[in-house]
Amino acid sequence: MREHTEPLLFELSRTGRTGHSLPELDVPQKPYEEMLPEDVLRKNPPELPELSEPDVVRHYTKLSQLNHAVDTGFYPLGSCTMKYNPRINEEVSQLPGFSQLHPLQPVQTVQGALELLFNMEKFLCELSGMTRFTFQPAAGAHGEFTGLSLIRAYHSHKGDTGRNKIIIPDSAHGTNPASVAMAGYKTVQVKSNDRGGIDLEHLREIADNTTAGLMLTNPNTLGIFDENITQIAEIVHNAGGLLYYDGANANAIMGISRPADMGFDIVHFNLHKTFSTPHGGGGPGSGPVGVVEKLVPFLPVPVVEKKDNSYYLDYDRPESIGKIHSFYGNFGVIIKAYAYILSMGMEGLRRASEEAVLNANYLMRALAKYFHLPYDRTCMHEFVLSGSKQKELGIRTLDMAKRLPDFGFHPPTVYFPLIVEEAMMIEPTETESKETLDAFIEAMKQIAREAEENPDMLKNAPHTTPVRRLDETRAARQPDLRWRP
Ligand SMILES: *Cc1c(COP(=O)(O)O)cnc(C)c1O
Repeated sequence: MREHTEPLLFELSRTGRTGHSLPELDVPQKPYEEMLPEDVLRKNPPELPELSEPDVVRHYTKLSQLNHAVDTGFYPLGSCTMKYNPRINEEVSQLPGFSQLHPLQPVQTVQGALELLFNMEKFLCELSGMTRFTFQPAAGAHGEFTGLSLIRAYHSHKGDTGRNKIIIPDSAHGTNPASVAMAGYKTVQVKSNDRGGIDLEHLREIADNTTAGLMLTNPNTLGIFDENITQIAEIVHNAGGLLYYDGANANAIMGISRPADMGFDIVHFNLHKTFSTPHGGGGPGSGPVGVVEKLVPFLPVPVVEKKDNSYYLDYDRPESIGKIHSFYGNFGVIIKAYAYILSMGMEGLRRASEEAVLNANYLMRALAKYFHLPYDRTCMHEFVLSGSKQKELGIRTLDMAKRLPDFGFHPPTVYFPLIVEEAMMIEPTETESKETLDAFIEAMKQIAREAEENPDMLKNAPHTTPVRRLDETRAARQPDLRWRP
Protein backbone atom coordinates (compact mmCIF):
# COMPACT_ATOMS: atom_id res chain seq x y z
CA MET A 1 0.00 0.00 0.00
CA ARG A 2 1.27 3.44 -0.85
CA GLU A 3 1.45 5.72 2.16
CA HIS A 4 2.39 9.01 0.56
CA THR A 5 -0.23 10.87 -1.43
CA GLU A 6 1.66 11.70 -4.60
CA PRO A 7 -0.54 10.58 -7.54
CA LEU A 8 1.04 8.44 -10.25
CA LEU A 9 1.47 9.74 -13.79
CA PHE A 10 -1.26 7.30 -14.86
CA GLU A 11 -3.64 8.87 -12.36
CA LEU A 12 -2.80 12.39 -13.54
CA SER A 13 -3.47 11.42 -17.17
CA ARG A 14 -6.32 13.16 -19.06
CA THR A 15 -7.31 11.95 -22.52
CA GLY A 16 -6.03 14.29 -25.22
CA ARG A 17 -3.67 16.26 -22.98
CA THR A 18 -0.21 16.58 -24.49
CA GLY A 19 3.23 17.81 -23.57
CA HIS A 20 4.80 18.14 -26.99
CA SER A 21 4.33 20.03 -30.22
CA LEU A 22 6.21 18.61 -33.18
CA PRO A 23 6.72 20.40 -36.50
CA GLU A 24 4.55 19.14 -39.33
CA LEU A 25 5.86 16.16 -41.25
CA ASP A 26 7.50 17.31 -44.49
CA VAL A 27 7.97 13.84 -46.00
CA PRO A 28 5.26 11.48 -47.15
CA GLN A 29 4.01 9.28 -44.30
CA LYS A 30 3.91 5.57 -45.00
CA PRO A 31 1.63 3.23 -43.09
CA TYR A 32 3.52 1.27 -40.45
CA GLU A 33 2.60 -2.03 -42.11
CA GLU A 34 4.76 -1.04 -45.07
CA MET A 35 7.78 -0.32 -42.86
CA LEU A 36 7.68 -3.15 -40.32
CA PRO A 37 6.86 -6.86 -40.49
CA GLU A 38 3.35 -7.63 -39.30
CA ASP A 39 4.37 -9.81 -36.34
CA VAL A 40 6.24 -6.98 -34.61
CA LEU A 41 3.39 -4.46 -34.95
CA ARG A 42 1.15 -3.70 -31.97
CA LYS A 43 -2.49 -4.64 -32.25
CA ASN A 44 -3.51 -1.75 -30.00
CA PRO A 45 -1.73 1.48 -29.15
CA PRO A 46 0.13 1.40 -25.79
CA GLU A 47 -1.73 2.85 -22.83
CA LEU A 48 0.56 5.71 -21.96
CA PRO A 49 -0.36 8.56 -19.64
CA GLU A 50 -1.30 11.79 -21.41
CA LEU A 51 0.14 14.80 -19.66
CA SER A 52 1.28 18.38 -20.09
CA GLU A 53 4.92 19.36 -19.64
CA PRO A 54 4.35 21.06 -16.24
CA ASP A 55 2.52 17.93 -15.00
CA VAL A 56 5.58 15.85 -15.84
CA VAL A 57 8.16 18.30 -14.49
CA ARG A 58 6.28 18.74 -11.20
CA HIS A 59 5.76 15.02 -10.82
CA TYR A 60 9.43 14.14 -11.16
CA THR A 61 10.60 17.10 -9.12
CA LYS A 62 8.29 16.04 -6.27
CA LEU A 63 9.48 12.45 -6.53
CA SER A 64 13.09 13.61 -6.29
CA GLN A 65 12.18 15.47 -3.10
CA LEU A 66 10.83 12.34 -1.41
CA ASN A 67 14.37 11.05 -0.99
CA HIS A 68 17.11 12.24 1.29
CA ALA A 69 20.22 13.36 -0.60
CA VAL A 70 23.57 15.02 0.06
CA ASP A 71 22.10 18.02 -1.77
CA THR A 72 19.29 18.29 0.78
CA GLY A 73 20.93 17.35 4.06
CA PHE A 74 23.71 15.84 6.15
CA TYR A 75 24.40 12.22 5.21
CA PRO A 76 26.86 10.68 7.72
CA LEU A 77 26.61 7.12 6.32
CA GLY A 78 29.82 5.54 7.61
CA SER A 79 32.14 3.83 5.14
CA CYS A 80 30.35 5.50 2.21
CA THR A 81 31.96 8.98 2.25
CA MET A 82 28.77 10.78 1.29
CA LYS A 83 30.43 14.14 0.82
CA TYR A 84 29.34 17.04 -1.31
CA ASN A 85 30.66 16.72 -4.85
CA PRO A 86 31.46 20.04 -6.54
CA ARG A 87 29.22 20.76 -9.55
CA ILE A 88 32.13 21.98 -11.66
CA ASN A 89 33.42 18.42 -11.97
CA GLU A 90 30.06 17.22 -13.30
CA GLU A 91 30.14 19.99 -15.88
CA VAL A 92 33.68 19.20 -16.97
CA SER A 93 32.84 15.53 -17.47
CA GLN A 94 29.99 16.52 -19.76
CA LEU A 95 32.04 18.71 -22.10
CA PRO A 96 31.23 17.49 -25.63
CA GLY A 97 34.90 16.62 -26.29
CA PHE A 98 34.55 13.97 -23.59
CA SER A 99 30.90 12.99 -23.61
CA GLN A 100 30.64 12.55 -27.40
CA LEU A 101 33.60 10.18 -27.68
CA HIS A 102 33.14 6.60 -28.77
CA PRO A 103 35.43 3.97 -27.26
CA LEU A 104 36.00 2.38 -30.68
CA GLN A 105 37.38 5.58 -32.24
CA PRO A 106 40.91 5.30 -33.65
CA VAL A 107 43.50 6.26 -31.00
CA GLN A 108 44.79 9.19 -33.08
CA THR A 109 41.37 10.84 -32.59
CA VAL A 110 41.20 10.35 -28.79
CA GLN A 111 44.64 11.57 -27.75
CA GLY A 112 43.14 13.96 -25.18
CA ALA A 113 41.20 11.19 -23.46
CA LEU A 114 44.26 8.95 -23.37
CA GLU A 115 46.36 11.80 -22.00
CA LEU A 116 43.80 12.21 -19.22
CA LEU A 117 44.02 8.50 -18.33
CA PHE A 118 47.81 8.66 -18.51
CA ASN A 119 48.00 11.69 -16.19
CA MET A 120 45.34 10.39 -13.84
CA GLU A 121 47.32 7.18 -13.44
CA LYS A 122 50.32 9.30 -12.39
CA PHE A 123 48.20 11.11 -9.78
CA LEU A 124 46.91 7.87 -8.29
CA CYS A 125 50.45 6.45 -8.25
CA GLU A 126 51.60 9.54 -6.37
CA LEU A 127 48.77 9.26 -3.85
CA SER A 128 49.24 5.52 -3.25
CA GLY A 129 52.93 4.91 -3.91
CA MET A 130 52.02 2.21 -6.44
CA THR A 131 53.73 1.74 -9.82
CA ARG A 132 50.83 1.35 -12.25
CA PHE A 133 47.01 1.42 -12.27
CA THR A 134 44.17 -0.05 -14.28
CA PHE A 135 40.92 1.91 -14.59
CA GLN A 136 38.74 -0.99 -15.67
CA PRO A 137 37.08 -2.00 -12.37
CA ALA A 138 33.66 -0.36 -12.04
CA ALA A 139 33.45 -0.37 -8.23
CA GLY A 140 35.32 -1.19 -5.05
CA ALA A 141 34.08 -4.77 -4.99
CA HIS A 142 35.06 -5.15 -8.65
CA GLY A 143 38.52 -3.82 -7.77
CA GLU A 144 38.78 -6.41 -4.99
CA PHE A 145 37.95 -9.17 -7.46
CA THR A 146 40.55 -7.78 -9.88
CA GLY A 147 43.16 -7.58 -7.12
CA LEU A 148 42.52 -11.15 -6.03
CA SER A 149 42.83 -12.28 -9.65
CA LEU A 150 46.20 -10.50 -9.76
CA ILE A 151 47.25 -12.32 -6.57
CA ARG A 152 46.32 -15.63 -8.18
CA ALA A 153 48.19 -14.76 -11.40
CA TYR A 154 51.29 -13.80 -9.39
CA HIS A 155 51.43 -17.04 -7.39
CA SER A 156 50.66 -19.32 -10.32
CA HIS A 157 53.26 -17.57 -12.47
CA LYS A 158 55.78 -18.62 -9.82
CA GLY A 159 54.40 -22.17 -9.87
CA ASP A 160 53.22 -21.64 -6.29
CA THR A 161 49.77 -23.21 -6.58
CA GLY A 162 49.16 -24.42 -3.02
CA ARG A 163 47.96 -21.04 -1.76
CA ASN A 164 44.18 -21.06 -1.42
CA LYS A 165 43.46 -18.75 1.55
CA ILE A 166 42.95 -15.04 2.02
CA ILE A 167 43.16 -13.59 5.53
CA ILE A 168 40.58 -10.93 6.46
CA PRO A 169 39.97 -9.26 9.85
CA ASP A 170 36.65 -9.81 11.62
CA SER A 171 35.92 -6.09 11.20
CA ALA A 172 36.06 -6.31 7.38
CA HIS A 173 33.53 -4.86 4.97
CA GLY A 174 31.18 -7.53 3.57
CA THR A 175 32.47 -7.14 0.02
CA ASN A 176 35.89 -8.49 1.13
CA PRO A 177 34.83 -12.08 1.94
CA ALA A 178 32.35 -11.99 -0.97
CA SER A 179 35.15 -11.10 -3.40
CA VAL A 180 37.34 -13.81 -1.91
CA ALA A 181 34.62 -16.39 -2.60
CA MET A 182 34.07 -15.03 -6.12
CA ALA A 183 37.78 -15.35 -6.84
CA GLY A 184 37.74 -18.98 -5.70
CA TYR A 185 39.67 -18.51 -2.45
CA LYS A 186 38.76 -19.43 1.11
CA THR A 187 38.44 -16.76 3.80
CA VAL A 188 40.38 -17.10 7.04
CA GLN A 189 39.37 -14.63 9.71
CA VAL A 190 41.94 -12.90 11.86
CA LYS A 191 40.79 -11.53 15.21
CA SER A 192 40.88 -7.87 16.19
CA ASN A 193 42.66 -6.88 19.40
CA ASP A 194 41.12 -4.68 22.09
CA ARG A 195 42.51 -1.56 20.41
CA GLY A 196 40.54 -2.37 17.26
CA GLY A 197 43.55 -3.44 15.16
CA ILE A 198 44.68 -6.85 13.96
CA ASP A 199 45.74 -9.30 16.68
CA LEU A 200 49.38 -9.93 15.67
CA GLU A 201 49.71 -13.18 17.63
CA HIS A 202 46.68 -14.63 15.88
CA LEU A 203 47.97 -13.44 12.51
CA ARG A 204 51.31 -15.20 13.12
CA GLU A 205 49.43 -18.42 13.89
CA ILE A 206 47.36 -18.45 10.71
CA ALA A 207 49.77 -17.01 8.11
CA ASP A 208 51.47 -19.95 6.38
CA ASN A 209 52.34 -21.41 2.99
CA THR A 210 48.64 -21.76 2.10
CA THR A 211 48.15 -18.00 2.51
CA ALA A 212 47.68 -16.23 -0.84
CA GLY A 213 47.25 -12.83 0.77
CA LEU A 214 45.59 -10.52 3.28
CA MET A 215 42.93 -7.89 2.63
CA LEU A 216 42.75 -4.88 4.87
CA THR A 217 41.42 -1.36 4.94
CA ASN A 218 43.51 1.11 6.93
CA PRO A 219 41.98 3.04 8.62
CA ASN A 220 39.70 0.07 9.17
CA THR A 221 35.93 -0.04 9.46
CA LEU A 222 36.16 1.09 13.09
CA GLY A 223 37.72 4.31 11.80
CA ILE A 224 40.99 3.31 13.44
CA PHE A 225 44.44 3.39 11.90
CA ASP A 226 46.27 0.14 12.55
CA GLU A 227 49.66 1.35 13.76
CA ASN A 228 51.08 -2.19 13.45
CA ILE A 229 50.66 -2.17 9.71
CA THR A 230 54.35 -2.57 8.83
CA GLN A 231 54.58 -5.57 11.16
CA ILE A 232 51.41 -7.02 9.64
CA ALA A 233 52.93 -6.62 6.18
CA GLU A 234 56.12 -8.32 7.30
CA ILE A 235 54.27 -11.33 8.74
CA VAL A 236 52.23 -11.81 5.55
CA HIS A 237 55.20 -11.25 3.23
CA ASN A 238 57.38 -13.65 5.23
CA ALA A 239 54.68 -16.29 4.76
CA GLY A 240 54.85 -15.64 1.00
CA GLY A 241 51.51 -13.80 0.73
CA LEU A 242 50.60 -10.43 -0.78
CA LEU A 243 48.73 -7.52 0.83
CA TYR A 244 45.61 -5.98 -0.66
CA TYR A 245 44.57 -2.48 0.44
CA ASP A 246 40.83 -1.79 0.38
CA GLY A 247 41.01 1.94 -0.35
CA ALA A 248 37.39 2.73 0.44
CA ASN A 249 38.61 4.72 3.45
CA ALA A 250 41.13 6.78 1.48
CA ASN A 251 39.31 9.96 2.45
CA ALA A 252 41.26 9.81 5.71
CA ILE A 253 44.76 9.54 4.28
CA MET A 254 45.08 11.53 1.04
CA GLY A 255 48.49 13.15 0.91
CA ILE A 256 49.27 11.93 4.45
CA SER A 257 50.14 8.25 4.18
CA ARG A 258 50.49 5.89 1.25
CA PRO A 259 49.42 2.23 1.06
CA ALA A 260 52.67 1.24 -0.70
CA ASP A 261 54.70 2.71 2.19
CA MET A 262 52.59 0.70 4.64
CA GLY A 263 53.66 -2.45 2.79
CA PHE A 264 50.67 -3.11 0.54
CA ASP A 265 51.14 -4.64 -2.92
CA ILE A 266 47.73 -3.87 -4.44
CA VAL A 267 45.21 -1.11 -3.80
CA HIS A 268 41.85 0.02 -5.07
CA PHE A 269 40.41 3.49 -4.74
CA ASN A 270 36.68 4.19 -4.81
CA LEU A 271 36.55 7.21 -7.11
CA HIS A 272 32.82 7.23 -6.29
CA LYS A 273 33.50 7.89 -2.61
CA THR A 274 36.68 9.87 -2.32
CA PHE A 275 36.99 11.61 -5.68
CA SER A 276 33.86 13.55 -6.55
CA THR A 277 31.27 11.05 -7.69
CA PRO A 278 28.39 10.31 -5.33
CA HIS A 279 28.39 6.81 -3.87
CA GLY A 280 25.19 4.83 -4.18
CA GLY A 281 22.12 5.72 -6.15
CA GLY A 282 22.92 3.17 -8.80
CA GLY A 283 25.05 5.40 -11.01
CA PRO A 284 28.31 4.26 -12.54
CA GLY A 285 31.27 3.94 -10.21
CA SER A 286 34.98 3.41 -10.64
CA GLY A 287 37.40 1.34 -8.59
CA PRO A 288 40.85 1.70 -10.20
CA VAL A 289 43.41 -0.85 -9.02
CA GLY A 290 47.09 -0.06 -8.51
CA VAL A 291 49.99 -2.46 -8.05
CA VAL A 292 53.66 -2.51 -7.11
CA GLU A 293 56.30 -3.20 -9.76
CA LYS A 294 56.31 -7.01 -9.53
CA LEU A 295 52.58 -7.22 -10.32
CA VAL A 296 52.57 -4.81 -13.29
CA PRO A 297 52.82 -7.56 -15.97
CA PHE A 298 49.55 -9.10 -14.75
CA LEU A 299 47.37 -5.93 -15.00
CA PRO A 300 44.33 -6.09 -17.29
CA VAL A 301 44.76 -5.07 -20.95
CA PRO A 302 45.06 -2.52 -22.36
CA VAL A 303 47.24 -0.03 -20.49
CA VAL A 304 47.86 3.48 -21.80
CA GLU A 305 51.44 4.12 -22.93
CA LYS A 306 53.20 7.16 -24.37
CA LYS A 307 55.73 7.11 -27.20
CA ASP A 308 57.11 10.00 -29.30
CA ASN A 309 54.62 12.41 -27.76
CA SER A 310 51.56 10.36 -28.61
CA TYR A 311 49.50 7.99 -26.54
CA TYR A 312 48.53 4.45 -27.46
CA LEU A 313 46.82 1.40 -25.98
CA ASP A 314 49.11 -1.52 -25.23
CA TYR A 315 47.48 -4.93 -25.62
CA ASP A 316 50.76 -6.81 -26.04
CA ARG A 317 51.00 -8.08 -22.47
CA PRO A 318 51.27 -11.87 -22.44
CA GLU A 319 50.98 -12.28 -18.64
CA SER A 320 47.92 -10.06 -18.29
CA ILE A 321 44.83 -11.43 -16.51
CA GLY A 322 42.90 -10.18 -19.57
CA LYS A 323 39.91 -7.88 -19.46
CA ILE A 324 37.59 -7.36 -16.54
CA HIS A 325 35.42 -4.59 -18.05
CA SER A 326 34.62 -3.40 -21.54
CA PHE A 327 37.02 -0.81 -22.95
CA TYR A 328 38.74 1.37 -20.31
CA GLY A 329 36.29 1.50 -17.41
CA ASN A 330 33.70 4.17 -16.60
CA PHE A 331 35.43 7.11 -18.21
CA GLY A 332 32.98 9.79 -17.03
CA VAL A 333 33.74 9.04 -13.39
CA ILE A 334 37.48 9.18 -14.09
CA ILE A 335 37.10 12.64 -15.66
CA LYS A 336 35.33 13.92 -12.55
CA ALA A 337 38.05 12.52 -10.31
CA TYR A 338 40.73 14.09 -12.53
CA ALA A 339 38.99 17.49 -12.42
CA TYR A 340 38.63 17.15 -8.65
CA ILE A 341 42.33 16.37 -8.13
CA LEU A 342 43.41 19.22 -10.42
CA SER A 343 41.13 21.71 -8.69
CA MET A 344 42.13 20.62 -5.18
CA GLY A 345 45.84 20.16 -5.80
CA MET A 346 47.81 17.71 -3.70
CA GLU A 347 47.85 20.22 -0.80
CA GLY A 348 44.08 20.60 -1.07
CA LEU A 349 43.56 16.85 -0.94
CA ARG A 350 45.66 16.66 2.18
CA ARG A 351 43.60 19.41 3.77
CA ALA A 352 40.38 17.62 2.83
CA SER A 353 41.58 14.50 4.64
CA GLU A 354 42.75 16.49 7.67
CA GLU A 355 39.37 18.21 7.95
CA ALA A 356 37.47 14.94 7.48
CA VAL A 357 39.45 13.55 10.42
CA LEU A 358 38.95 16.70 12.50
CA ASN A 359 35.18 16.67 11.89
CA ALA A 360 34.95 13.01 12.89
CA ASN A 361 36.88 13.54 16.12
CA TYR A 362 34.77 16.60 16.97
CA LEU A 363 31.57 14.56 16.60
CA MET A 364 32.98 11.52 18.37
CA ARG A 365 34.02 13.48 21.47
CA ALA A 366 30.66 15.25 21.70
CA LEU A 367 28.59 12.09 21.20
CA ALA A 368 30.65 9.93 23.57
CA LYS A 369 28.82 11.77 26.39
CA TYR A 370 25.53 10.13 25.39
CA PHE A 371 26.51 6.86 23.72
CA HIS A 372 28.98 4.10 24.49
CA LEU A 373 32.25 4.50 22.59
CA PRO A 374 33.76 1.00 22.43
CA TYR A 375 37.17 1.99 21.02
CA ASP A 376 38.06 5.16 22.85
CA ARG A 377 41.00 6.51 20.88
CA THR A 378 41.59 9.19 18.28
CA CYS A 379 39.63 8.22 15.20
CA MET A 380 40.32 8.87 11.56
CA HIS A 381 37.54 10.01 9.18
CA GLU A 382 34.80 7.98 10.91
CA PHE A 383 34.04 6.31 14.22
CA VAL A 384 31.74 3.67 15.64
CA LEU A 385 29.40 4.16 18.60
CA SER A 386 27.42 1.44 20.31
CA GLY A 387 23.75 1.72 21.27
CA SER A 388 24.33 -0.75 24.12
CA LYS A 389 23.30 1.75 26.87
CA GLN A 390 20.03 2.50 25.08
CA LYS A 391 19.45 -1.21 24.43
CA GLU A 392 19.20 -1.68 28.20
CA LEU A 393 16.25 0.74 28.06
CA GLY A 394 14.58 -1.33 25.33
CA ILE A 395 15.63 0.97 22.50
CA ARG A 396 17.46 -0.49 19.54
CA THR A 397 19.95 1.29 17.31
CA LEU A 398 17.42 0.83 14.51
CA ASP A 399 14.87 2.93 16.45
CA MET A 400 17.38 5.75 16.88
CA ALA A 401 18.41 5.58 13.23
CA LYS A 402 14.76 5.82 12.19
CA ARG A 403 14.31 8.97 14.28
CA LEU A 404 17.11 10.94 12.56
CA PRO A 405 15.16 11.70 9.34
CA ASP A 406 12.71 13.67 11.51
CA PHE A 407 15.59 16.08 12.16
CA GLY A 408 16.51 16.25 8.47
CA PHE A 409 19.52 13.93 8.76
CA HIS A 410 20.29 10.66 7.08
CA PRO A 411 21.04 7.95 9.66
CA PRO A 412 24.56 6.57 10.05
CA THR A 413 25.44 3.06 8.91
CA VAL A 414 23.98 0.69 11.52
CA TYR A 415 24.81 -2.84 12.73
CA PHE A 416 28.19 -2.68 10.99
CA PRO A 417 30.98 -3.46 11.70
CA LEU A 418 29.68 -6.72 13.13
CA ILE A 419 32.10 -6.77 16.06
CA VAL A 420 30.37 -3.80 17.73
CA GLU A 421 27.05 -4.44 19.46
CA GLU A 422 24.23 -2.18 18.17
CA ALA A 423 26.78 -0.33 16.03
CA MET A 424 26.37 3.19 14.63
CA MET A 425 29.11 4.09 12.18
CA ILE A 426 29.33 7.82 11.63
CA GLU A 427 31.30 9.59 8.89
CA PRO A 428 30.73 13.34 8.71
CA THR A 429 33.21 14.10 5.83
CA GLU A 430 35.13 17.33 5.32
CA THR A 431 32.41 19.18 3.44
CA GLU A 432 30.17 19.82 6.47
CA SER A 433 30.21 23.01 8.51
CA LYS A 434 30.53 23.23 12.28
CA GLU A 435 26.89 24.42 12.41
CA THR A 436 25.73 21.20 10.71
CA LEU A 437 27.84 19.06 13.03
CA ASP A 438 26.45 20.91 16.06
CA ALA A 439 22.87 20.44 14.84
CA PHE A 440 23.55 16.72 14.46
CA ILE A 441 24.97 16.55 17.98
CA GLU A 442 21.81 18.28 19.28
CA ALA A 443 19.60 15.76 17.46
CA MET A 444 21.55 12.80 18.84
CA LYS A 445 21.41 14.31 22.32
CA GLN A 446 17.65 14.64 22.07
CA ILE A 447 17.41 11.03 20.85
CA ALA A 448 19.42 9.86 23.86
CA ARG A 449 17.04 11.80 26.11
CA GLU A 450 13.98 10.32 24.38
CA ALA A 451 15.38 6.84 24.94
CA GLU A 452 15.06 7.54 28.65
CA GLU A 453 11.95 9.69 28.79
CA ASN A 454 9.82 9.04 25.73
CA PRO A 455 10.72 5.68 24.16
CA ASP A 456 7.56 5.52 22.02
CA MET A 457 8.78 8.56 20.12
CA LEU A 458 11.71 6.43 18.91
CA LYS A 459 9.84 3.18 18.47
CA ASN A 460 7.31 4.82 16.14
CA ALA A 461 9.81 6.95 14.24
CA PRO A 462 10.09 8.37 11.66
CA HIS A 463 7.16 10.75 12.03
CA THR A 464 7.68 13.30 9.26
CA THR A 465 8.84 11.31 6.22
CA PRO A 466 6.68 10.51 3.15
CA VAL A 467 6.64 6.84 4.19
CA ARG A 468 6.88 5.68 7.79
CA ARG A 469 8.82 2.65 8.95
CA LEU A 470 9.15 0.21 6.08
CA ASP A 471 9.38 -3.53 6.18
CA GLU A 472 12.89 -3.41 4.76
CA THR A 473 12.97 -7.03 3.71
CA ARG A 474 9.67 -6.92 1.85
CA ALA A 475 10.63 -3.71 0.09
CA ALA A 476 13.65 -5.55 -1.33
CA ARG A 477 12.13 -9.00 -1.89
CA GLN A 478 8.61 -8.18 -3.08
CA PRO A 479 8.74 -4.69 -4.56
CA ASP A 480 5.40 -3.64 -6.00
CA LEU A 481 6.40 -1.50 -8.95
CA ARG A 482 3.59 -2.11 -11.40
CA TRP A 483 0.60 0.10 -11.98
CA ARG A 484 -2.65 -1.68 -12.63
CA PRO A 485 -5.68 0.19 -13.96
C1 LIG B 1 32.23 0.80 -0.01
C2 LIG B 1 33.22 -0.15 0.48
C3 LIG B 1 33.62 -1.24 -0.31
C4 LIG B 1 32.97 -1.62 -1.62
O1 LIG B 1 32.96 -0.61 -2.58
P1 LIG B 1 31.82 -0.55 -3.71
O2 LIG B 1 32.30 0.49 -4.63
O3 LIG B 1 30.54 -0.19 -3.01
O4 LIG B 1 31.77 -1.91 -4.34
C5 LIG B 1 34.61 -2.06 0.19
N1 LIG B 1 35.16 -1.84 1.40
C6 LIG B 1 34.80 -0.80 2.18
C7 LIG B 1 35.47 -0.60 3.52
C8 LIG B 1 33.80 0.06 1.76
O5 LIG B 1 33.42 1.07 2.54
